[in-house]
Amino acid sequence: METMKRTVTCGALRRGDVGRTVILNGWIHRKREHGGIVFINLRDRYGVTQVVVDQESPQSLTELAAGLRMEYCVAVEGAVRERPASMVNPDMPTGEVEVSARNIAVLSASETLPFMIDEVNKDGSPVVPNEDLRLQYRYLDLRTGRMQHHTALRHRVALAVRTFLDKQGFFEIETPTFIKSTPEGARDYLVPSRLYPGKFYALPQSPQLYKQLLMVSGFDKYFQIARCYRDEDARGDRQPEFTQIDLEMSFVGREDVLALTEGMMAHVFKETLGVTLPAQFPRLTYEDAIDRYGTDKPDLRFALELRDGSALAETGTFAAFKDAVTAGGAVKALVVPGAAEAYSRKKIEDLEGTARVYKAKGLPWVKVAGTGAAPVLEGGVSKFFPDAGAVCSALGAKPGDLILFVSDSSKKTACAALGAVRSRLGKDLGLADPAAFAFVWIIDFPLFQWNEDEARWEAAHHLFSMPQEHCLSTLESDPGSVKGDLYDLVLNGYELASGSIRIHDPALQKRVFSVVGITGEEAEAKFGFLTRAFKYGAPPHGGIAPGLDRLVMLMAGETSIKEVIPFPKNTFAVSPMDDCPSEVDRKQLEELHLAVRG
Ligand code: ASP
Repeated sequence: METMKRTVTCGALRRGDVGRTVILNGWIHRKREHGGIVFINLRDRYGVTQVVVDQESPQSLTELAAGLRMEYCVAVEGAVRERPASMVNPDMPTGEVEVSARNIAVLSASETLPFMIDEVNKDGSPVVPNEDLRLQYRYLDLRTGRMQHHTALRHRVALAVRTFLDKQGFFEIETPTFIKSTPEGARDYLVPSRLYPGKFYALPQSPQLYKQLLMVSGFDKYFQIARCYRDEDARGDRQPEFTQIDLEMSFVGREDVLALTEGMMAHVFKETLGVTLPAQFPRLTYEDAIDRYGTDKPDLRFALELRDGSALAETGTFAAFKDAVTAGGAVKALVVPGAAEAYSRKKIEDLEGTARVYKAKGLPWVKVAGTGAAPVLEGGVSKFFPDAGAVCSALGAKPGDLILFVSDSSKKTACAALGAVRSRLGKDLGLADPAAFAFVWIIDFPLFQWNEDEARWEAAHHLFSMPQEHCLSTLESDPGSVKGDLYDLVLNGYELASGSIRIHDPALQKRVFSVVGITGEEAEAKFGFLTRAFKYGAPPHGGIAPGLDRLVMLMAGETSIKEVIPFPKNTFAVSPMDDCPSEVDRKQLEELHLAVRG
C-alpha cells in the first residue's frame, strides 16, 4: 500500500494540475469501454475523477482494467491530462481533466452489489432501493451522493452548534446514559444489572434531570449533543434512539432561551446553508395556533387559516352547525381560494376521509360562484344558506373559492380535524415552498393534560416545567386551566424543539408531582434526589432541546429522520443489517438473573 498511497483525492484535480503524476485511491463508480479504451469514474468522499486506460497501455494493465467491477476499491497512478474539448464535463468539478493510468492496484474486490450506487432512471431521477435493503446494506447506501451529503451536513451542523455555544460561554458536559428509571411520558429502555439481581438501569429519555442538577452545581450554561432513548410503539417517523441538542441556562427567563435559540439557528443556517434567517421568529400562543391552524405544529410556509364560522349557525338552517354551537362547540371553516373548480365531489370526499381520521363527523362544503357583488353558493350544503353574501362576508370568501367546514360539540375536535385537512391541502396543492424555512414559536402551553384512559392529569411536556405565576393559586383546584412557562419551536410543520423554564423550588415541585398523583414515598423514591438538590441554593433555570435529526432532515429537504441518521432502525425498531434486537445466550440471561417467558 505504501507505494500506492493517494497523493490527491478524487475531487481535487483541475486544469492547473495537468502534467502532474498523481495517485488516486477510491471506488469504481462507473466503467465503460469504448473502442478499446477503458473509462473509469473513480469515486471517493471528495468527488469523482475520470481515469482512462488507453489503447496503447501494456496488455497487463488493459487486462486488469477489463476485469475491474463496480465498487472495487483501487489505487490508480497516472498522469493528469486535459480532456479533449468534446469530453469536457462542466457538471463535474474535475470535468476538465482525466488521469491517464499507468498503474492500477486492486486494494479490495467487491461482490455483485445488491443495488447500484447512485443509479438513475432514464429521466435522471434517482433509483431508490427499498428501505430494508438500504438498511441491510447501509454501509453501501452511505456511499451514495445523497447520504454522503447528508452525513457531511450533519457534521457541519453539529460543529456550528458547538462553535456558537462555545462562543456564548457554554460548556459541553456529558451526563450518564445509565440512569435511574423514572418513566413519565415514554417507556424507558432498561438495562439489567448483573451485580444487583432484579435491579435495572434505564437509558435516558433525555438528560433532563442531570442538566438541572448541573445548574444546581453552578455550571450556568450547559449543552450536550445527547443521545436519547424512548421505547415507543412504531408510529410515524420515530427512532428508538435519537439525538438532541440539549441545553440549559441559569438565571434566565423565557426571553433569554428564545433569543439564544434564535441566535443558534441563525448561526447554523448561515454557516452550513448560507441561508439568512429572520432575527426573531414569529410567535403564536398555543390557543391561537389551535384556533388558526388546528395544530400546535403549524406549517407557516403557507397561509390558509381556519376561520370561525359559528355565526353561520344563525345565518343558515343547517342543523349540524346549530347543534354544535348549542352544545358549546364550534363551526370552523377553511376557505380554499380558487379551488371550487378543481375540487370535484369525489376529491372532497377524499378530504373528508382525512377529517374523519381526526374524529370529524363529516366535511360539509359549498362552492362560491356568481360575482363579487352577487355571490352564489353551489353544491354541498348550499341549500341551507340562502344568504350567500352573508356567508362570504363572514368568512372572507369570493367567487371561485371552495369552503370546507367542520362543526363539533368540541371546538378542539373541530379545529384538529380541519387543521388536518389544511395540512393535506398544503401538500396536495403544493402550497409550501420546499426551499423555505418557516420557524414559529408556540408559547403558553397548558401545563397539564387529561389522560382519558387513566383518568388523571399528566404533564403536557414534563414534570419539571414552571407553572405561570398567575396560575399558581389554581394549580390544584383547576389543573386544566394552568399555563406553563413552556415553549416549542416549530419549523415547516415539525416540532423542532421543546423547552421550558423549570421549577427550582422543592415545595412547588412537590405540588406539581401531587397534581399528577405522585405523592409521599413514590415522589421521594423517584425524584427525591432532585428535590433534595433544590434545597441547596438552586438557581432559577430553563432550557430547551432542539432535535438534531429533525433539524438536519429539514435542512436537507428530507421528510424522514432515517435519511440523516447514519445507522437508523427501520419503522419496526429493527436493524436489518445486524439483525438487532436479537436473542442472547442462556448464559448471558442467567448472569443477569433473567428468564424469558413463553
Ligand atoms: N428534555 C426535554 C425533552 O426532551 C426538553 C427540554 O425541556 O429541554 O423534551
